[in-house]
Amino acid sequence: MKPNTMTALAKTRAEEGLWMIEAPVPEIGPDDVLIKINKTGICGTDIHIWNWDDWAAATVPIPMITGHEFAGEIVELGRDVTDLKIGQRCSGEGHLTGTESRQSRAGKFHLDPGTRGIGVNVQGAFAQYLRLPAFNVIPLPDDIPDEIGAILDPLGNAVHTALKYDLLGEDVLITGAGPIGIMAAAVARHAGARNVVITDINAERLELAQHVEPTVRTVNVIQEKLADVVTALGLKQGFDVGLEMSGNQSALDQMIEHLVMGGKIALLGIPPGKSPVDWSRIVFKAITIKGIYGREMFETWYKMIAMLQNGLDVSRINTHEFSARDFKLGFETMKSGQSGKVVLDWGDVK
Ligand code: ZN
Repeated sequence: MKPNTMTALAKTRAEEGLWMIEAPVPEIGPDDVLIKINKTGICGTDIHIWNWDDWAAATVPIPMITGHEFAGEIVELGRDVTDLKIGQRCSGEGHLTGTESRQSRAGKFHLDPGTRGIGVNVQGAFAQYLRLPAFNVIPLPDDIPDEIGAILDPLGNAVHTALKYDLLGEDVLITGAGPIGIMAAAVARHAGARNVVITDINAERLELAQHVEPTVRTVNVIQEKLADVVTALGLKQGFDVGLEMSGNQSALDQMIEHLVMGGKIALLGIPPGKSPVDWSRIVFKAITIKGIYGREMFETWYKMIAMLQNGLDVSRINTHEFSARDFKLGFETMKSGQSGKVVLDWGDVK
């Protein structure tokens, strides 16, 4: 039986922190489903909202139930939903898109300029129940557990970035060993890259990268020169493809420096404000650059689930799991910079 109220983790005041609140269980529309949340992942976005930085203060209306990375189970179907069933385990795309824009009408929903995000602009998933359009639901096969279902959103960022270019037989440089960079290394390997090198300045993160994807070559750029690694690997000119995951200016500089003529870069990392770029270097090296946002709806989801069923293993990126009641511990762990993905379990909440 569906209760009238639920426990949720929300931004209720314009200051640092998130608070457990009692909120009404969402009413669903004819095209929505109601999802009972089992597990959620904490994202960098949630940390921005916790910290209430300039971006969050300018973007997120209050009160807002945060969170957009989740796995759960459908407990109620809207009147017009015919292709889903009660009891179906699922995750879902947290970007809510319209149908009117040119991009949406061309089937490129992820490029709809009117996109709103759950947990950012619309009530989110850090709660016992979530309302989601049936269109956004991704059913989870039995062999994908909830703790992986809860991180498909960031894995989708990694997959979207890594699959932007054909990686079969290519040498790939990833700058930034956060959870998405690390998962991208595993995806790049799965997609057939020859050498996968990942750089960072955080030793713990590089260790985690090695733990998640043992074949990756980690480089702490404080201790080791990327140029030496290029030589040691026997790469004549450098890397064919770069996946920029850090938003760090010197990481991008190093990437451009060590890319082959005609190399390609996919940019997912977000620099803080404007940053200087050596454009003439990019022109003379004939480099292609592509910005990556979100996940392709829904091709990325399809590919990612197929790869998970075909041996892609990112399970070790989940380094911590807490009861959602211990969310403060979860956020502290995330903020320490010494964790992979942190999962909150909603199963035993109230
Ligand atoms: Zn996220």
